[in-house]
Order: sequence, then C-alpha cells, then structure tokens
Amino acid sequence: MSVMLSAPRGTQDVLPSQSEKWQFVEETARKTAALFGFKEIRFPTFEHTELFCRGVGDTTDVVQKEMYTFEDKGNRSITLRPEGTASVVRVALSNGLLNDSLPLKVYYLTSCFRYEKPQAGRLREFHQYGVECFGSKEPIADAQLIASADAFFKALGIKNLHLEINSIGCPECRKNYHNALKEYFEAQKDALCETCKGRLEKNPMRILDCKSPVCSEIAKGAPKVTDYLCDECDEHFKGVQGYLEAMNIKFKVNPTIVRGLDYYTKTVFEFVSDEIGAQGTVCGGGRYDGLVETLGGPKTCALGYAMGIERLLLLLEAQGVAFPESDKCEMYIAPMGDKAKCKAVELVSLLRDEGFRADCDIMGRGVKAQMKYANKIGAQYVIVIGDNEIETGFANLKDMQSGEETKISLGDSFIKEFYDKKLSAACGDVLASFENLTK
Ligand code: ATP
Ligand code: MG
Repeated sequence: MSVMLSAPRGTQDVLPSQSEKWQFVEETARKTAALFGFKEIRFPTFEHTELFCRGVGDTTDVVQKEMYTFEDKGNRSITLRPEGTASVVRVALSNGLLNDSLPLKVYYLTSCFRYEKPQAGRLREFHQYGVECFGSKEPIADAQLIASADAFFKALGIKNLHLEINSIGCPECRKNYHNALKEYFEAQKDALCETCKGRLEKNPMRILDCKSPVCSEIAKGAPKVTDYLCDECDEHFKGVQGYLEAMNIKFKVNPTIVRGLDYYTKTVFEFVSDEIGAQGTVCGGGRYDGLVETLGGPKTCALGYAMGIERLLLLLEAQGVAFPESDKCEMYIAPMGDKAKCKAVELVSLLRDEGFRADCDIMGRGVKAQMKYANKIGAQYVIVIGDNEIETGFANLKDMQSGEETKISLGDSFIKEFYDKKLSAACGDVLASFENLTK
C-alpha cells in the first residue's frame, strides 16, 4: 500500500463498527463527571511550547523526548498537547476562572500527542478523559477525586483494577528526600542510562519513573519517599486514606509511584490492571499544588487525573464487558419505481421528524437486494412500496424479527399506526420479560 494510504505510525482509526464502544465510554465519562459536579472544558489542540516545558517539567520524558513541536509560519514554537492539565490551567488563568467561587471542577475528553514507540496501549495520538479540581488543600478533595474515578470504572462494568496511592510530599520534605536519592543513585551512576545521568543533579526523583530496565532495577532499592514526609504531608496522606476507607474504596500504598509529570505534590495515584500487558496503568493522577503558581497564577491548590481511553477499551474487551446494543434502523422503506421513491422519501421524513430511525434505498437496488440490505443493517420493520401500494394507500408492515406482517396505512394515520405498532411490540417485550421473571 502507498504511504499516503497507511495511517501514520502510532495512530488508530475508529471504524463505524467500533465507534459505539467509544461513545459508550465517553457518555459514561460525561455522566459520571456530572454526578460529581465536573463541567466540561475544551482547549486548543496546540499551545505555545513554553506552556508544556514549564507546566509538565523540563526533566520529564514527555518534554525531553515525546513532544510534537514545530515552528509555525510566524516562527512561533508550537506544540501539540501531550496532556491536558497544563492547558486547563492556562485556560483557567487566561479567563479568570480561579477568581470565581472555588472549587473549580472541570473535565475534558480530548486527544493527546506524544512521540513514543508505538505498542499495545501506547500510541502517538491517544485520547484522555481527565478531571481537574482547583482550590482545595483538604485531603477530602483527594479522596473525592479518587472516588470519581472509581465510580467511572464501576459504571463501565470494569473489575479488578488496583488502586495504588502514594504521597510524594511537598517541596520542603522533598529536599531531604532528593538528597537521599542523589546519594543512592550517585553510587551507581555509571549503570544509569544517559538521560538519568542528567536527571541526577536536576531531578533525581525522575529516575524512579525511568522505563529503562537497568534504571528501574536500580530504582527498586532506592529510599522510599514516604519515609521522608514532613508532619503536614504525613497527616494529609493519612487523611486521604481515612476518607477512602470511609467510602470503602480499596487501595494499596505503593511508595514507588512518582508519576511521569513534574508538577505533582503530596497525593499521587494510579489505577492499574494486570490484564492488558505492560501498559497496565489505565489512570494516573494526583495533587499539584505548585503548578498554577509555576504558570504565573495565584497560589492555588489543585488536583486531577487523566485516563487513557485506548487502554480502557483494551481492558473492557479483555474483561468481555458487554457494550450497549447499537441503535438499529427502526423502519426501512423499500420503494419500487419512481412514484414509490417519492412516497418513500416523504414517509422517511415524517418518521425522522417523529424521532424514529428510518431509512430508504438510495442505491437504486431491486426489491430483493433491498430486503437483504434491510436484514443486514438489522432493521426492525420494513415496508415495500410499489404501484399497488400507492394505488390502495396501504402496505404490508413486516416485523423483521418475527416475520409477521400487518397492514399499515400510507395516508394521514401512517405515523399513528406505526406508533401503535411499536408500542404494542414494546408491551409484548415487557410482558415476555415479566413472564420469564415469574417462571
Ligand atoms: P506511562 O507510564 O504508561 O507512559 P504516563 O505516566 O506517561 O503513562 P500520564 O501522562 O499520567 O501517563 O497520562 C495518563 C494516562 O494516559 C495514562 O495512565 C495512560 O492511560 C494514558 N496514556 C499516556 N500515554 C499514552 C500513550 N502514549 N498511548 C496511550 N495512552 C497513554
Ligand atoms: Mg509516558
């Protein structure tokens, strides 16, 4: 195949046969966000590169290796968003959203771009559902945020996700920790990858998140951040755990989680699956009390998470979660001849005006081929209209599932008769399920 026709490496097409799965995840996200009081926020696909360098952090993998950065025709350095949080903070600051009554609670469903080595669950264009909450320093906010992710997974029907939490402290308690880390890694400097050698001075905690097998093996023996928390951070972390317990949300404290972005403080967490291979982190998030200030805003506590929709879909498939049935055509009209075609477009319009999913042939097919097509798309009812039907004003309404045929007027009472038919079929379904229940 020519290069032009193959999708760029690391991108994924969503075919019509798959899009309903995406819609299911997106609708569930929107519903859950609404339950927890998060409102949708949208932002541009690209921003000034500076925003991500500062927001995400110069020493992160994302900024060092993964950004899609280019110069536009006006010589500005532009970057396709690698994540949502920095953009959300930018929108909040440039529109004064933090001056309104807090907390500010927002969510987004958006594409992200990272130049990574593509593999299952790791793409160059991927999609995130994320939420952010601004204004609260309280541990109850962290617990509520985690609860919203937990509720989303429950609403999707996902099981066996492990919630792992950690606290990486505040800049104060992290000073001591950084020193301890430096000392530990300094002793094994020669074995570290080149990137991590550079991180040793600037941000030794990043080494804990390095994907290279050698570095991650060395990282296993590193000092634990939880042993270095100041009293306030320690108290905060205990508070979060207490609220999670009160909501009966199961978790494990994992002191090795540091997350891949530089802006986190105190609580960090991941929801991890062991059913979708190496890319098992479905959701990552935490508190980022310093980011708003770093980006030039007032000191504002904040927290959030983002989850990868592609990984979620992999997990839904792996667990065999039933996706809702797709919306099938309710009435297919098969016309024969020019007059019948006119009648067909008239009836299809009437049906659609009433909110019924209706369709008719636009391919010029014969009646047999039209019936075959109606069957293929799973149409519930079909009527064939030819000269005879136009003359008498009646047609046969065929129930495609039972094969049963009844007469339907093509005149003024057409819609009412179709409504009645649908209603009695629905009543029949309810009765049948009731009988099943009482059997
Ligand atoms: P990883 O450690 O897997 O690289 P990350 O720490 O870079 O993840 P975040 O920046 O926290 O991930 O993004 C949040 C979520 O977005 C991840 O948990 C994952 O589900 C998803 N995600 C991140 N990068 C990708 C990618 N390249 N392709 C698909 N999903 C991704
Ligand atoms: Mg990553």
